This record gives sequence, C-alpha cells and structure tokens, in this order.
Amino acid sequence: MNVPDLIRLCQGEVGVDRDGIPGLVTWGAIAAALQARHGDIPPPPMAVPMTSAEARFDESTETLLATLDPKAIPAFRHFICVAKGIAAQFGCDYRMVSGYRTWDEQDELYKICCNGGAHAVPAGWSWHNFKISGDFGVFQIIAGKSIYLDGDTPQRQAQAQHIHEIIGAQAKSLGMEWGGSWTGRSCDPPHFQFFMGRSSPNDTDRANFQRKGSVL
Ligand SMILES: [Zn+2]
Repeated sequence: MNVPDLIRLCQGEVGVDRDGIPGLVTWGAIAAALQARHGDIPPPPMAVPMTSAEARFDESTETLLATLDPKAIPAFRHFICVAKGIAAQFGCDYRMVSGYRTWDEQDELYKICCNGGAHAVPAGWSWHNFKISGDFGVFQIIAGKSIYLDGDTPQRQAQAQHIHEIIGAQAKSLGMEWGGSWTGRSCDPPHFQFFMGRSSPNDTDRANFQRKGSVL
C-alpha cells in the first residue's frame, strides 16, 4: 500500500475526507481519536492559515474578543485563526458567541441551573468572569442563510460536535483548555479558556481580579 492510500485508510477510520492529504483536519481528527481511546494527545504538526496579527474576524467574534483581558487576546487570536481554518475545511465558520460575563450575569445563569436549566457554576467560579474564556459556535451557510449548527437538528449538532472535537484536540498546543475535555455535567464542548493550569479559579484569582481587574 502506498503512503496516500495509507493516509486515506486512516482518514476513513477517523471520519474525515479521504483525500490522501495529511492536513490539519486529518491530524486533528487523529489526535481526537487517540485522545478518546487512550486519554492522551500526541503533539500535532501545526499550520496556521493566516497570521493572527493580520486577521480580522467576523463581527461577533471581534466584539466579544474585545471583552477579554488584553493579555489573553493574542493567544485567543492565534487559537481562532487555527479554529477557523479547521472549520473552513468542513465548509463552516467558527465564531465566538460568548466572552466576558459579569458576576451578576453569572449568578443569573446559576439560578437557571438551580431551577433545572443548563449547567452553570456560581459567580466567581467561571473563568468567563475573569475575562479569559470564550464560547464558540459552528456556523454554516445553508440556502443563503447562516445556520447555528450547535442549536439546530440532531444531524447538524453532531457535525458541530465533530468540529468542536477536532479543534478541542488542538487546544492544549495553542495554550487553551477545552471544556469538552471535562467530564459529567461540566462537559462543555463550545467552551475554551486561556490555560491556567487549573480548571476553576481559586481565592487568589478572585482577590487579584477584584484588586487589579486581571488574573494574568
Ligand atoms: Zn463557556
């Protein structure tokens, strides 16, 4: 078997286009599959489709990115460049749908959670409250309309999930922690946060943020 055929075989195994070209999507899918089976991510070869300094993203992403800690923005820009490059290979766009959240807004979400709604943590326990987290959605133009796949039919949600997983497998190498790697009710595939070495903020983080508006 020649090398492109071998790559096509691997691509079939991990559910991506069998084009015989080992690009970023293929490596991301292999990393995601290995992570699922063995709980470890091999370092993938990185390719950045455009430099993060020159990229201008969609309006939603740019607006929400501006709500984050200025020290975290360069890492997010680099991450978004890679994420959009991966999503584009599936004919989709990857856009930020949530950024900084005030502590009052977090408390509202927590109340909804306590009443049986979507999972949320109390104010001061989400990195969104510290300006270093973002939630992302998968969008696709279908029949001339931009469709938010995450909130659409089960088939479209599955496609969004597949893209989150491939991007999530790259998160660590891009200085991010991926919410999809968390277990149980905390599992949150659209969520990415600046890598701090701990999934939740602690008392020192809360004190630092109140004192100087930044944990970085
Ligand atoms: Zn989030």
